[in-house]
Amino acid sequence: MSSNRIQTVGIIGSGTMGNGIAQACATSGIRVVMVDIAQAALDKGMATVAGSLDRLIKKEKLTAEGKAQALARIKTSTNYEELKGAQLVIEAATENEALKVKILQQLDALLAPEVIVATNTSSISITKLAAATQRADRFIGMHFFNPVPMMALVEIIRGLQTSDATHHTVKALAEALGKTPITVKNAPGFVVNRILCPMINEAIFVLQEGLATAEEIDAGMKLGCNHPIGPLALADM
Ligand code: NAD
Repeated sequence: MSSNRIQTVGIIGSGTMGNGIAQACATSGIRVVMVDIAQAALDKGMATVAGSLDRLIKKEKLTAEGKAQALARIKTSTNYEELKGAQLVIEAATENEALKVKILQQLDALLAPEVIVATNTSSISITKLAAATQRADRFIGMHFFNPVPMMALVEIIRGLQTSDATHHTVKALAEALGKTPITVKNAPGFVVNRILCPMINEAIFVLQEGLATAEEIDAGMKLGCNHPIGPLALADM
């Protein structure tokens, strides 16, 4: 399947990541169907997208017309049936393995066989989640970073059975969203969090041992390693 067939992306979950992914798709001209369990969650997600687009208008990176067009591309629903027109569905629900397995089984029964299912999980094995479906070859990890509209990286994680065609389509989609994809193997923390989390943890130990103040630790990593944000400020986020 070629990437230009991805005209509609389904998103499960309208929280921090789901609404960010929805915004990134909508501002790139891709239609979105975003599903959550409660209307209140969808309303909150859409309000977040609208607020984020307003900030882009203020920075003169988007016009009022561009905002209206992007919002018009996002359809919301509490009904999974609405996902039926999507060529690819990204699962971005709460990080809970049993919940994700249930959602993936529901999607697997609902979606046409050729539809690709991606998960935005931060910590669950892609191969394990793929096994909950009958489409392990059309299943992949698509790990976005928070805040999605601002962060340029997408980690693409292939499960044991992910096909080359699925990988190709998802990589092209990430590029169509203006992101830079990196492809990594399926292992705990994947690549970025595996490196980042021990660093943040170490910064907390340094603070605990009284070796420096929080401000000094953050300044050290910003000025000494050229990190855009200090590890303790990042942990606070
Ligand atoms: P969140 O709590 O902000 O949002 C989760 C949403 O999923 C909620 O709106 C909830 O109502 C919804 N949900 C729960 N069960 C559902 C169901 N059965 N069907 C549809 N929607 C359902 O969580 P988040 O921070 O957006 O994280 C989502 C996923 O993204 C997790 O797997 C997380 O590990 C991953 N992730 C998070 C970050 C981050 O920085 N927040 C970064 C990368 C990846």
